[in-house]
Amino acid sequence: MDNYSNYYDTVIVGAGVGGLYTAVCMPETTRILVICKRGAEVCNSHLAQGGVAAVYKPVDDDNINLHTEDTFIAGGFKNNPDSVKVLVTEAAAEIEHIISLGTDFDRDENGELDRTLEGGHSRRRIFHHRDSTGAEVTRAIRDAVKKRKNITFLEDALMCRLVKTDGGFAADVLVNGEHITYTAPYFVLATGGIGRVYDFTTNTAIATGDGITAAYEMGATIRDLSLIQFHPTAYHDNSRECFLISESVRGEGAYLLNCNKERFMHRYDDRLELAPRDVVSRSIILESRETGSDEFYLDIAYKGKEYLSERFPMIYEFLLTQGIDMAKDLIPIYPCQHYLMGGINVNTYAQTDVNGLYAVGECSHTGVHGNNRLASNSLLEALVFGHRAADSISAKLDEAHEPFGYEFDLPENAEHIPTGIRTEIRHIMQKAYFVIPDKQQALAGFERVCEIKKMLETGNYIIDRDFVEAKSLATVAYIILKEVI
Ligand SMILES: Cc1cc2nc3c(=O)[nH]c(=O)nc-3n(C[C@H](O)[C@H](O)[C@H](O)COP(=O)(O)OP(=O)(O)OC[C@H]3O[C@@H](n4cnc5c(N)ncnc54)[C@H](O)[C@@H]3O)c2cc1C
Repeated sequence: MDNYSNYYDTVIVGAGVGGLYTAVCMPETTRILVICKRGAEVCNSHLAQGGVAAVYKPVDDDNINLHTEDTFIAGGFKNNPDSVKVLVTEAAAEIEHIISLGTDFDRDENGELDRTLEGGHSRRRIFHHRDSTGAEVTRAIRDAVKKRKNITFLEDALMCRLVKTDGGFAADVLVNGEHITYTAPYFVLATGGIGRVYDFTTNTAIATGDGITAAYEMGATIRDLSLIQFHPTAYHDNSRECFLISESVRGEGAYLLNCNKERFMHRYDDRLELAPRDVVSRSIILESRETGSDEFYLDIAYKGKEYLSERFPMIYEFLLTQGIDMAKDLIPIYPCQHYLMGGINVNTYAQTDVNGLYAVGECSHTGVHGNNRLASNSLLEALVFGHRAADSISAKLDEAHEPFGYEFDLPENAEHIPTGIRTEIRHIMQKAYFVIPDKQQALAGFERVCEIKKMLETGNYIIDRDFVEAKSLATVAYIILKEVI
């Protein structure tokens, strides 16, 4: 490459809250490229319903010690204390910042910011925009990003390969069918979760673990990939992308019922419906073994139509399209894959152990969540550690960096990957590790996943979306199952 127009000060892979917020927190003198592999709204951030947890202008005697305690209890005290401290102490400043960027959080009749309660929280501290908080937060930050002249924003740009080079990193990116190389001294991976490695997930189609795979291939440490959160209350209709019935529905008083339309949580946990997600999901699976049925329901009809349609408009409307009026009917639910606690290991500045490589949001492992994420702590994690990544990179950009280029080889006479690989991996994962791991299935699945992974790594395949995502799913399944067996 003889000109370096594809050289940036920083490249950010991912345009959910993690990637966008990192970009907007960097100085306007920094040349930044942000890419996302589909449309801007196809990301988990856009789907977030419940809200963002924070002790900001606290009510009900809330304080950061209580937020810390709740985070530790949900995480089974396996959380990293340094990261949790950063998370809860810097939360208020990030909430204030995103409000200043235009985020419209709900307010009460006096114009004060409203907060809701969710499972595992001892106080009302969840800032929300009705039941579509993620869409609103992402919109506000994305609008701010789009106004910045220093930020180039590319949609439908798939990072296929990422390598470490002399001056930093080079990425092979597929844009409109053309492979383009982008280089930068600093790369931020903000590629989201891994939900699509399962048959049933709340995650969008982008959640195939591409960033985790790229980091793994570069030798970065990947931590606790088998720490997967299964949300207890996804709408149960056997769709691959499951619609989430937010935690805040239980927070606002919904009961969980078994196939006999009886409450059952008292048999498993004293916190009843407000126990953390892992406890509730596990209780549902154990209860289903007792009753021999996977029929479960949420019941919040007693709150009435006016309240429910105002407080949960998106959920209310969605359920109506399914023939369910939540003000009258029971809502069929069942657990499904929802969130990844593990990921690319980072320090409290979002730095991986590959010099110059950062990871933020769901693809990262900051250690804040321990064994189980407390509801509404993940948007907060993406904000807090995205800001820290931006600060860390900005400080280093004072150092001299020379633009550089790089050329990737493209395989000749390559063929398309065989069909059915991704479906096979999903079936393996669903059988091997759904809420409660099955060691025998995991072992058998691991052997097959190893074969698939090797085939993709050594075969002569066209480097396109199908190949990239199949290799990511195989790599992610490989790492998870290796931890489980
Ligand atoms: C249904 C649902 C409800 C949720 N509710 C809440 C909630 O109420 N509160 C809360 O705190 N959390 C919630 N979460 C979790 C939270 O939304 C996510 O953890 C968080 O938004 C992740 O943000 P992110 O920026 O890391 O990833 P995402 O928002 O998923 O963004 C990932 C980005 O990476 C891009 N990308 C991926 N691979 C590539 C590649 N190879 N090349 C180029 N780009 C790539 C994608 O295109 C996308 O832009 C919810 C999640 C779901 C699914």
